[in-house]
Amino acid sequence: MLVTMKEILDKASEENYAVAAPNVSNEINARACIEAAEDMKAPLILDVAYMAAPDIVFLGGMLRKLAEQTYVPVAINLDHGASLEQVQMAIKGGFTSVMFDRSSCPDEENIREVQEIVKLAHAAGVSVEAEYGHVGRATNYDVDRDAALTDPEKAREYIEATGVDCLAVAIGTAHGAYPKGFVPYLDFERLVAIKKATHHFPLVLHGSSGTDNESLRKACQLGINKVNINTDLCQATAKAVKEADFEGKSMLVFHVAQTAFKEKLKEMIEVYGSAGKAWKPEGAKGIARSKFPRRSE
Ligand SMILES: [Zn+2]
Repeated sequence: MLVTMKEILDKASEENYAVAAPNVSNEINARACIEAAEDMKAPLILDVAYMAAPDIVFLGGMLRKLAEQTYVPVAINLDHGASLEQVQMAIKGGFTSVMFDRSSCPDEENIREVQEIVKLAHAAGVSVEAEYGHVGRATNYDVDRDAALTDPEKAREYIEATGVDCLAVAIGTAHGAYPKGFVPYLDFERLVAIKKATHHFPLVLHGSSGTDNESLRKACQLGINKVNINTDLCQATAKAVKEADFEGKSMLVFHVAQTAFKEKLKEMIEVYGSAGKAWKPEGAKGIARSKFPRRSE
C-alpha cells in the first residue's frame, strides 16, 4: 500500500515509535526491505539517494509497483535531495516524499530554498523532509559531532517558517562508518528538548549505523520517528556473502545477500518499536515472494 511519508510519520509521532528508512538502490534490496516490513507487520519508508541510483524515475516506477502489492504502508522518499531537478525527477518518478537538504547553508538560505520545495511538492501531494542542524561524516566524528547540533527553539521556528512535514535533527550521530575505536553517543536531553519545543513534531535520525541498539531504542522512545539506515545493512550483507558456503551454487549469491539484508532490517524494526504498527487495507495481498532455490534443493 503506497502512502505519503506524512501519513506514516504523523501516526508514528502520535504513538511514539520510529519507522525504518533503509536506503535502497535496486530490486534486490527493495524486495528485502518490503519482505522484512511484511514479516514484522511494520510501516516502511524506502529511501533513495540520488548518488546511489541516479535513474530515479525508473527506480521510482519499480518501487511504486512493489509498494502497491504489499499490505503494509510504504512511502518512497528521495534521500538528501540536492537540487530542484532531483526533486522534480523524484516527483515524476512517483515518489511520495522528498528530502531537500540545505543543512550546510546559512539559516536564511536553508529556509528560503526549502519553502520553495515545500510549495512545489505539496502541490503534487508529496511530503517534504528537511534537516536543521547538520549531521556530519562519521570519518570526521571528533570534529563533526558537536559542530552543528540542532537548537530546539530554532528548530520550532524552522518548522513554522518552512512548512515541512518532518525534520531531520543533529543529536550526535554521523553518516557512514566510524573509524575504529570511535563509539557514537547521543544527546538525549537535546532530543527531548527538541520534541517538546516543536510540540511533538515528527523527527528523523540520520546516520544511525554504528550506534548501539539500546541507544537507538531509547531515541525512538524519546521522539525519533524515522531512522535512516544504510551502512549497517550493507555491512551485514557483505559479511554474509563473504562467509557463505555456496556449495558450488554461485547463483545463491543474490539470495544470500537479500536474506542477510532482510534479517538485519527485521532486527532493527524491532529496536525502532514499529513491529506490529502497520495498518492493513481490506483485501490487500502481500508482495510476491521469491521462489529462489534453497541450499537443500
Ligand atoms: Zn542522511
